[in-house]
Amino acid sequence: MTTNDINFDAWDREHLWHPYTSTINPLPTYKVVSAEGAKIKLADGRELIEGMSSWWCVIHGYNNPTINEAIASQTAKMSHVMFGGLTHDPAIKLGKALLEIAPKSMHNIFYADSGSVAVEVAMKMAVQAAISRSGDHKKSNFVTIRNGYHGDTWNAMSVCDPVTGMHGAFGPALPIRYFVPQPRSRFDGEWNSEEIKPLEQLLDEHADEIAALILEPIVQGAGGMWFYHPQYLVEARRLCNKYGIYLIFDEIATGFWRTGRCFAWEWAGVEPDIMTVGKGLTAGYMTMSAVLTTREVADTISKGEAGVMMHGPTFMANPLACAVACASLKLLSEQDMASRISHINKIIREELRAAEGLPTINDVRSIGAIGVIEMKEPVDVGAFQKQCVERGIWVRPFGRNVYFMPPYVISDDDLRTLIRQTIEIIR
Ligand code: PMP
Repeated sequence: MTTNDINFDAWDREHLWHPYTSTINPLPTYKVVSAEGAKIKLADGRELIEGMSSWWCVIHGYNNPTINEAIASQTAKMSHVMFGGLTHDPAIKLGKALLEIAPKSMHNIFYADSGSVAVEVAMKMAVQAAISRSGDHKKSNFVTIRNGYHGDTWNAMSVCDPVTGMHGAFGPALPIRYFVPQPRSRFDGEWNSEEIKPLEQLLDEHADEIAALILEPIVQGAGGMWFYHPQYLVEARRLCNKYGIYLIFDEIATGFWRTGRCFAWEWAGVEPDIMTVGKGLTAGYMTMSAVLTTREVADTISKGEAGVMMHGPTFMANPLACAVACASLKLLSEQDMASRISHINKIIREELRAAEGLPTINDVRSIGAIGVIEMKEPVDVGAFQKQCVERGIWVRPFGRNVYFMPPYVISDDDLRTLIRQTIEIIR
């Protein structure tokens, strides 16, 4: 029997949509019964080394006793109360903990439900503030760089890459944004000062229509797993100041040490006006995100037409999620995370060397706890994952990129096995 036969679940296949999946010809799925540390256990008893952190979020590993305890004790007090007119300690403690690690200029926090919703909120903040500041409703569009990814909701989609993102499928239904080329200067290479010129030119012509520039700092995730030069952020900040444009850093994927710094903006040392965090915020336990901003943005919104920030989700500041996030941040603060991630990076680099020069490979790169093998051709995800499962690893490529972003608790041996087995499949 093949892996697929063993794990084939007819009901799931018939009724449940998985991410980006056809109902006619769905990709195979594998049933998980439990997960522990950096291992996922399948229904047939096999164990997989987790290379994805369940899409960036399971930073402390599965079934973490400290976070389990935090969730249990908060559940015994209250799982949820509305945030309209009520408040609670988990929200306050989390807010304080976030401001301790956020850029110094961050002052106000908006809790939201998921990464995509955080991006919606950040974009709404920017528009409300830009209109309030300029008195001009025209100042409500966005500029971004190509190959970005910011989520699946409407406005988030509109700033995803227009080619690899979802513009094709939704066409004129999406708002039209301004796009400038992706910076090609590598994170650890030489900075090519020509690369900022398209943004400068665009802002020169259209600043009066633009509320904000939105970027994933340093690491472009789902849009291509590309790591670009910090100087781009320095120049972008300078131009945003010059042209009166807000700067949004989407740190949903990069936040909480994934790149080797607590947040990726630190590589450039320039602060955004608005910043989104999610994913690792709740360590893969609950869905929650947060949007942080400056006092200037917050107060400018409050002085504007609506007089308030126009958003207020049902599950805002969910106490369980806040308690989980507090426990996760405490775990991070108790460890020397810079050394931990640098150790993971050293192993990733050592192991990735075996992939360099293979004829099917275009590029190999790593930053922090992320390793990428960029292939020359797109990968057949279903076939690739079948081989991963047979070899006891969990890696999910997309497009031409095969990449790793393991939980920070992964053992050295498991990390080496994960990468070696992946390279064997590629061979
Ligand atoms: N922004 C970035 C940079 C992301 O990587 C993602 C998720 N991959 C999102 C936003 C959207 O987050 P979510 O899937 O939680 O809505």
